[in-house]
Amino acid sequence: LTQLFRPLDMLGMVYRTIRQGLIDMAAMFALMDQPVEVADAPSAPALIIRRPSIVFDNVWFGYEPDREILHGLSFEVEAGSRVAIVGPSGAGKSTIARLLFRFYDPQGGQILIDGQDIKGVTQKSLRAAIGIVPQDSVLFNESIGYNIAYGRDGATMLDVEAAARDAAIADFINRLPQGFDTEVGERGLKLSGGEKQRVAIARTLVKNPPILLFDEATSALDSRTEQDILRTLRSVARDRTTLSIAHRLSTIVDSDRILVMDQGKLVESGSHLQLLKLDRLYAEMWARQAAESGTVETASDS
Ligand code: ADP
Ligand code: MG
Repeated sequence: LTQLFRPLDMLGMVYRTIRQGLIDMAAMFALMDQPVEVADAPSAPALIIRRPSIVFDNVWFGYEPDREILHGLSFEVEAGSRVAIVGPSGAGKSTIARLLFRFYDPQGGQILIDGQDIKGVTQKSLRAAIGIVPQDSVLFNESIGYNIAYGRDGATMLDVEAAARDAAIADFINRLPQGFDTEVGERGLKLSGGEKQRVAIARTLVKNPPILLFDEATSALDSRTEQDILRTLRSVARDRTTLSIAHRLSTIVDSDRILVMDQGKLVESGSHLQLLKLDRLYAEMWARQAAESGTVETASDS
């Protein structure tokens, strides 16, 4: 069992520092094109989470000075709830994820986690608290165990195995002749899209983050695989605060609350049924997607 981790111990600090760099880079690949420096406030304390609530309080943001993307966005995600963000492409959904992870600071307003302004806490503690599963996860040409373990510095083989179980990929891995030592990627085992996402979910779970963020985590998968993975995501969301950015509305109908974004503004908010009854943008998107998938569903029979 220790075989997997011995190289990491041998190389020590330097290796861990590089590895930490890779973690952040992988998250960045997934979320943004160009990283921008944000600095910790002098003697910033660590984020302390008792109840992982999220508040966007009148947030104004643009990537460039002359093009505003979010126009005074306010919403609250209660601790332990499952909230979805939907809306047309370009509405600003992934921008919300990038701001929450503090790749950028807003030009106006505040983002609070459990009542603490994320600008005032260390980035390390902030990023440790949030587990992201992006649409296309980056796996390294390393063993499957390594790919899961790098979700958290100092993860043990037991942590890795537990995370793989929760991500429903442990049986698959244990059936491989070399198990967790199996190399993946270009020079190793080719994983299917669904298997790759499960490894990414396991990697995220190794962090044991109180907040989970799924940015179109299943949108690249076929619908059967998507349904399988969604079941897994629902079970790992238990006892956590979950924000799911989704393209396919069928994947988020059972959310506690759905936030509908359009052109950098929150235009609707409510449960699936409430939003269907409202009969505006969400209802329109729902009708269009239902027509495309050939199912007939209305407010009365869903
Ligand atoms: P969504 O996830 O809802 O499709 P995004 O939040 O990714 O939308 O993007 C919102 C807007 O911000 C889009 O108009 C997009 O072009 C712009 N945008 C996204 N990332 C950047 C960036 N790194 N630099 C400049 N503009 C960006
Ligand atoms: Mg997006």
